[in-house]
Amino acid sequence: MDLVIMGPPGAGKGTAATRIKEAYGLAHISTGDLLRAAVKAGTQLGLEAQGYMNSGKLVPDEVVIGLVKTRLGEPDTAAGFMLDGFPRTIPQAEALESMLEGIGRKLDAVVSIEVEDEVIIRRIAGRLICPSCGAIYNAEMNPPKDGTCECGGIPARRKDDEPEAVKTRLVAYKAQTEPLVAWYRGKGLLLPVIGEGSPADVFGKIAHALESRMRERGC
Ligand code: AMP
Repeated sequence: MDLVIMGPPGAGKGTAATRIKEAYGLAHISTGDLLRAAVKAGTQLGLEAQGYMNSGKLVPDEVVIGLVKTRLGEPDTAAGFMLDGFPRTIPQAEALESMLEGIGRKLDAVVSIEVEDEVIIRRIAGRLICPSCGAIYNAEMNPPKDGTCECGGIPARRKDDEPEAVKTRLVAYKAQTEPLVAWYRGKGLLLPVIGEGSPADVFGKIAHALESRMRERGC
């Protein structure tokens, strides 16, 4: 199964992606994680991406497209992949389509998690991420015990979760990424899911939608 998972920042995409990856054994390709790793490693690409990321802007298409192309060539994607945070623009979606065509593959579904703006802002305000293992907490709803992650790391707010950067990310999402919802709907690939309720509820809805899609496709 080859998937894209999309949704506005704070929709619970990361949490849902972890569950989907585990349930279906997919390679999880998060462009945000790939870019953060490049920043941490201090590569040329990381240096170029860092300024855009800290201010909540999108990194230029050609940079992310190159990263995804390389990642899709790795062997763990053979049994299926889930792209998370990519594509975020129509040119990225077009590039993905031709990349997949080139390797004889096609997307099976695009899961779109939908959440109201007020819910997003409330969720992001409390979001804490462990810098060591990437576990996601919420200062109010799911705080780390004694401020420490199970892995021993100290969860903290991401720089681009600061209120100003969140506003910029939401504006970028609406202007550049939301048009993809209609684009994928037009291609018959969209599986819209309401991202409210517990992580288990949201995953249940996604799994149900994915399984009906796979049955339709005879997989
Ligand atoms: P994420 O972890 O998916 O929220 O991504 C964090 C940041 O990385 C975004 O705010 C962007 O600056 C950058 N980024 C991640 N994926 C993309 C993409 N597909 N296109 C452009 N920028 C991206």
